[in-house]
Amino acid sequence: MKASSPPAGRAPLMPLGDAMADLLGRVDALTGTETVATFDADRRVLAQDLVSALQVPPKDNSSMDGYAVRTADVLEPGQVLRVSQRIAAGQAGGPLEPGTCARIFTGAPMPAGADAVVMQEDTIEVGGDIHAVHIQAVPQRGQWVRRAGEDVTHGAVVLARGERLSPAGLGLAASLGLAELRVVVRPRVALFSTGDELVMPGEVPPEAMKPGAIYNSNRFFLRNLLQRMGCEVTDLGIVPDQREATLAALQSAAEQHDLILTSGGVSVGEEDHIKPSVQQLGRLDIWQIGMKPGKPFAYGTVRRSAAGQNCHFIGLPGNPVSSFVTFLLLVRPFLLKLQGVPAARFQPLPAAITLPAHFTLPRADKRREFLRVRRNAAGGLDLFPNQSSGVLTSTVWADGLVDNPAGTTIAHGDPVSYISFSDLLA
Ligand code: AMP
Ligand code: MG
Repeated sequence: MKASSPPAGRAPLMPLGDAMADLLGRVDALTGTETVATFDADRRVLAQDLVSALQVPPKDNSSMDGYAVRTADVLEPGQVLRVSQRIAAGQAGGPLEPGTCARIFTGAPMPAGADAVVMQEDTIEVGGDIHAVHIQAVPQRGQWVRRAGEDVTHGAVVLARGERLSPAGLGLAASLGLAELRVVVRPRVALFSTGDELVMPGEVPPEAMKPGAIYNSNRFFLRNLLQRMGCEVTDLGIVPDQREATLAALQSAAEQHDLILTSGGVSVGEEDHIKPSVQQLGRLDIWQIGMKPGKPFAYGTVRRSAAGQNCHFIGLPGNPVSSFVTFLLLVRPFLLKLQGVPAARFQPLPAAITLPAHFTLPRADKRREFLRVRRNAAGGLDLFPNQSSGVLTSTVWADGLVDNPAGTTIAHGDPVSYISFSDLLA
């Protein structure tokens, strides 16, 4: 890898890490909470610790279909034991008579006195009768027994406040008997697209598109990314390219939302209505971030009518890949913090793994670059051939990003930092 210094004489771009820290410093966690059905709590953030009121499993139970025994009764293989009782899952047996065994099924509680299970495959019914069995193998104490409390102990904090729930987390909560969970309210996000060239799919067929017109693609992934992040989205569509309409939309959205998210119109020198409108209704900081794709990024606030209250504003670049990548790298951590996920529990940028590049990048960029790549069967990374910020195909083809430092070329075989989309989309 070869590093070169950026050209002199240009205003320095803001490093991505600084932009992330600055952005996160401007957001406080929402304080509202609500109770939702455990079924509906995927991706929601817990507003309180989940403390177990029981132990899981509640009792010692069998992890096999077989026979519960006292190991003292089976000191050598070939022992014959009478089957003195039958215990299916959901039943409670009586104490195990010494010198006998209990027919037992997976999940059934161990009878008092038994200290191991012999799996069915290690037994033979005597004379084809189910009332006595040959025990073929000498059991170890505790064999095939799931211990009471081995999953969750009584009083344990199973999931902590600030934890973002996953399907497995919902199962764990349910195993404690919780049908409902107290979670942080959803961030209310108003979504706008800007750009007079944009047409909604379905409104005009491809063959009838006017020269210069393109379909609005950002709206589709942004709305869905917001929903994945647990947001309640008000999709305000394409804001007409007029000052009055833009001001009205921003002003009314600010009242009922925590964040207004837009795409397009934040490049330098762009003639558009979002920037001056946000400035008129609050404040706007345009950041030139040292990242590719995604250099232009805007953060600001829009005042609400109630004194001292503001709504967050984030303006993403219009180029689809830039919009997608800046959402993942900047808006995602912003939304996590807004929902009260503690900083210690998420890294703004998920941990990268080092993999060999199975491609070359002969021309270094002065910006830190996020290349669309895909893991290959040989354990390396392939590069999507067209890395243009307008080529959305690259983000669908790719399964992650290479985080390539500014001014760095890549030779075939070089170790590079790979961040999986599955970590960024979780
Ligand atoms: P802008 O950031 O507004 O200068 O837009 C940069 C590029 O992204 C232009 O080519 C726009 O046509 C394109 N673009 C802007 N918004 C969208 C959108 N919602 N969907 C698809 N392309 C867009
Ligand atoms: Mg535009």
